[in-house]
Amino acid sequence: MTETVQPCPQCGAEIRGDGRFTTWCAACDWNVDPERPEEKQGRLAKAQRAQARRHGERLLAELGTGGTLHARWDSSTVLAVAVALVVHAMTVALTAGGIWFLVRGWGGMGMIPGAFLLALGWSLRPRLHRLPEDEPVLRRADAPELFALTDEVARVAGTRGVDAIVVDAEINASVRSYGIRGRRLLTLGLPLWEVLTPQQRIALLGHEMGHYVNGDTRHGLVVGTAYRSLITWHYYFEPVDRDPLDDTGALTLILNLLYVVPRLLVRGVLTVLDGLTLRASQRAEYLADRVAARTGSTRAALELMDHLLIADSAAVTLRREVNRAALNGPRGRRQAADRTDGLWELLAADLASVPEHERERLRRAGALRGHSVDATHPPTHLRHACLLIGEAAPPAVVADDDRERRITEELSTARTKVARQILRDGY
Ligand SMILES: [Zn+2]
Ligand SMILES: [Zn+2]
Repeated sequence: MTETVQPCPQCGAEIRGDGRFTTWCAACDWNVDPERPEEKQGRLAKAQRAQARRHGERLLAELGTGGTLHARWDSSTVLAVAVALVVHAMTVALTAGGIWFLVRGWGGMGMIPGAFLLALGWSLRPRLHRLPEDEPVLRRADAPELFALTDEVARVAGTRGVDAIVVDAEINASVRSYGIRGRRLLTLGLPLWEVLTPQQRIALLGHEMGHYVNGDTRHGLVVGTAYRSLITWHYYFEPVDRDPLDDTGALTLILNLLYVVPRLLVRGVLTVLDGLTLRASQRAEYLADRVAARTGSTRAALELMDHLLIADSAAVTLRREVNRAALNGPRGRRQAADRTDGLWELLAADLASVPEHERERLRRAGALRGHSVDATHPPTHLRHACLLIGEAAPPAVVADDDRERRITEELSTARTKVARQILRDGY
């Protein structure tokens, strides 16, 4: 480690840095966030950010004064469902119109609009999620110990466990429902899972199971499927690319002009839905954090949040390893892919070596960015503050070394597969 000492160019305070990380000043926040992503400009984006900040802070204030934050049917949730039902009603109307044309014009020209409307309605139907096909899917029999742990955490959270677990390369975890019977899928990103301690993993499972308890409108059956239909609508009204050498240029121009209004309309409805579900989404995150604390302990939940803050460092490490493999050409890549053992251990060691002053910088940068990056999740510093309200909870589910070892064994095929995929395809 190379320690550097220099005066702060802004306030003159002494800055001690570590060559591997950004140099910044703890006294005046100079250079605390040099890689701040550009904020989306425009009145709409600004209004959305302001709204997100208002909701986030108000929810936190409610929690601070002893509010329970129970998911409830407030007016915006009711409106969101109403908007979603209108979207689905459009689909029904198109399908019914298609059938009408087909029946009336059977054998004649009426069949053309009939078939067109039916196809349109079919493409806009409420679509349920399915299991991914290109990632390792674990069933209960493949990973009995991991499922047992998830069940135990789910029981404490007050819900049932999941039906399938997918392992992927994201620095994240998530839950969703799939299929007509509303089965449950947990997705575990290995770059996150592998760097957590057993107790932090329990907190992570708690957070995810917490999402099933809280029912987040945006991802619910009615609104979630309406979102997907609207995105299909939006795709249909994308402007058509105009070929300058093509004689039909005038036609595409007219088509694009005709598309402007419907496209704006679809975008408008999407924005309205976003606004209506925003509060519920943020509340769901706070509530899920509480379940994380209840199952894995407040301490583990706070540590988990710290890990999410340094998630970018994990991406840097993985990219470095990919580059190292690529330096040796295609053969090197193949060799590296065969030598995947150790990637996860290396990642965990790398993240553990991120010093406290870098973590503090990331915390402050996160607070400064606030809602600028992602409006649906409350910023990490607010979630952190929320966890500190009230008494610290002890763990309801305690990590057990034996069990952890068995879980790692159950994941071994997936660990190799995902590591190989990262080294081969890049990150
Ligand atoms: Zn300074
Ligand atoms: Zn969440």
